[in-house]
Amino acid sequence: MRNLIALSACCFVVAAASANEPPAYAPPKKPAPNTVIESIRPAKPGAKQGAETAGATRGTGGTSGTNGTGGKGTPAAPRMTEREREEQAEAELSAKIAARLAEMRANQAARVAAAAKAKKAAAAKAAAIAAAPPPRANGTHWAYEGEYGPANWSKINSDWAVCGNGKRQSPIDIRDGMKVELEQIAFDYKPSAFSVTDNGRTVQVTMGGGNYITVGNRMYELQQFHFHRPSEERINGRGFEMVIHLEHKDSEGKLAVLSLLLERGKPQPVIQTVWNNLPLEKRDTASPAIVLDPNDMLPQRRDYYTYMGSMTHPPCTEGVLWLVMKEPVQASPAQMALFSRLYPLNARPIQPGSGRMIKESN
Ligand SMILES: [Zn+2]
Repeated sequence: MRNLIALSACCFVVAAASANEPPAYAPPKKPAPNTVIESIRPAKPGAKQGAETAGATRGTGGTSGTNGTGGKGTPAAPRMTEREREEQAEAELSAKIAARLAEMRANQAARVAAAAKAKKAAAAKAAAIAAAPPPRANGTHWAYEGEYGPANWSKINSDWAVCGNGKRQSPIDIRDGMKVELEQIAFDYKPSAFSVTDNGRTVQVTMGGGNYITVGNRMYELQQFHFHRPSEERINGRGFEMVIHLEHKDSEGKLAVLSLLLERGKPQPVIQTVWNNLPLEKRDTASPAIVLDPNDMLPQRRDYYTYMGSMTHPPCTEGVLWLVMKEPVQASPAQMALFSRLYPLNARPIQPGSGRMIKESN
């Protein structure tokens, strides 16, 4: 009987340890020893079991009457002694506990295996996320300052990566140029229709067709010109108050940008025409019924610096031929002040030269 109680206690402890699992077998609740025996006795119809128990009790009492009566007509069933019943019950309980323990161990092993599998799957998922390329950025808004400024252009849109990792970016500080006999740029400009747009980042003048430059045996057509303050490019470290960029494109889509550095001086007639026709609202376009001659902006001397660079704003496309006129163009302080009211700063910072060749007219 002591064994029985010990086994019951053991079962109870193990069952308590497997807390997450509803017990299939309810352990005995510290009962009196006799009750334990009754509770684990093999199931029999209640009434018969009760009768037998009663009979057995009488039998052990030593009165032979009952046994004698039973033995009269039918052969007496082998009767178990109290000791035998205890031993049988103990054996049955031991078997049940062993089975229960085996079941709980199997469940525990299954839980451990499932946890290990889940952990492995989570690790594999994390590794896959770490190995995957970063999601593509597709922003379109950029600016000259702050969160959307030049330092972050390459991160705003994946197609603008070259703004950050390009080796042929513009603007640059133009210095140590190779002085050579550069060919003259052939200008074929004429009075043309135009429209003026305040696009939120600069004032842009879109030109009607038919204005060309020819350089390097390529003919580029003027598309538009626009203004920056201060000048984006520098000459031997020197910046200018403003610059005009005239963007040209050839039949293959290659870009050539002619740069006119502005310094304070007398009023510039073409700039005045543009200012006269500024749209009243940002992102609006004015299309006046007059013409504008780009020739009127060009300096007397046509010497220039040239190098290969990029667009100076997103997407920062490289392969752009830069032609920077050496002689600055004059504009009046009032003309410059007007632009500075609209755009006090719209210039990209200087980019690394990265050993690029710069040529300049002798
Ligand atoms: Zn520009």
